[in-house]
Amino acid sequence: MRKVYLDANATTRIDKKVLETMLPFFNEIYGNASSVHAFGRESRKHVESARRKVASLLNAAQPDEIIFTSGGTESDNLAIRGVSEALANKGKHIITSSVEHFAVLDTCKDLEKKGYEVTYLKVDAYGLVDMEELKKSIRKDTILITIMAANNEVGTIMPFKEIGKIATENNIVFHLDAVQALGKIPFDVQEIGCDLVSISGHKLYGPKGVGALYIKKGTKIKKCQLGGHQERNLRAGTTNTPGIVGLGKACEMAKEEIASVEIKKLRDLLHQGINKSIPQIRLNGHPEHRLMNTLNITFDYLEGESILLSLDLEGIAASTGSACTSGSLEPSHVLKSMGVDALFSQGSVRFSLDKYTTKEDIEYVIEQLPPIIERLRKMSPVYPGRVEEK
Ligand code: PLP
Repeated sequence: MRKVYLDANATTRIDKKVLETMLPFFNEIYGNASSVHAFGRESRKHVESARRKVASLLNAAQPDEIIFTSGGTESDNLAIRGVSEALANKGKHIITSSVEHFAVLDTCKDLEKKGYEVTYLKVDAYGLVDMEELKKSIRKDTILITIMAANNEVGTIMPFKEIGKIATENNIVFHLDAVQALGKIPFDVQEIGCDLVSISGHKLYGPKGVGALYIKKGTKIKKCQLGGHQERNLRAGTTNTPGIVGLGKACEMAKEEIASVEIKKLRDLLHQGINKSIPQIRLNGHPEHRLMNTLNITFDYLEGESILLSLDLEGIAASTGSACTSGSLEPSHVLKSMGVDALFSQGSVRFSLDKYTTKEDIEYVIEQLPPIIERLRKMSPVYPGRVEEK
């Protein structure tokens, strides 16, 4: 049976070149990058080279504005908690959006318990925050705006340059969660005017369990994890040299490969194929300002989970939304915020493509999906054309 992986927003396959770059760092160049001896110095040299590569992809002014972490979740936690604690004497108001990843939402909720106030900006039907609402939400005590560059579930790209401008004008620290955006759209921290950016290795063909936080020089931030003095004393813990080297290579490759026309073509081919053969479907997310690899579709009257199970039986991997919430039958908080009716938000499936997706893969999905939807709808208690059991 053919195997088709359309869940790149959950994680990507590590690129072979990235893997090859990492391998010597498990058993050949294995010194602790903080050690002063030659073994340690050799590891350190490669960690610093990786730092330059990550900085270059973001167009950071200096490589030491990059702090390595264990991934997007830790970067988000460190950015939000670290800045909020460092600026607590200036104010305790944070602005975010209602469609953020839970790494951001749950950190904000936790800060609320500690006396901070959080404004969760609403989004429109496409998942975009309203600039006017953002401006109105700014208060004298606002210390941080934390927004995602692109949404992981529906792919909508936020107007982050405009948000950066507003943050700069109001002298508010601006954190961008670029975990899904980096490697898919060009990204320039100096042009955007952001102070912190979260990134993750496993979303851009790098290894899992490694990420980075860009921290613009001069940004006030308090460390959250106690222990060693690694990463400019901002992130305690033995340096993950193989992971960091892998992340560096993945960023170097992303800089060269950002041309994503092919992936977009295949994504649109899938959309057209579904549109042509399956009635009563809706696209979730912005029709244009959307990641080129993401297609989130609602199949009316169905549950996404049953579609996924049927697709899985045919060797096709997709998702109902965020991998972190799959398994829970709660409707997606993203679709709910976008105003999608609960009845319909249950029936959404996210297809996310990567550079390994082929035309044959897409043709296979277009062939397999219509009979699955037809069969499930016939059994659906809410489908008007349901076939009654005798
Ligand atoms: N932020 C966004 C927008 C994400 O999509 C994800 C993961 O899906 C994360 C943060 C968390 O990243 P990580 O899996 O590296 O912890």
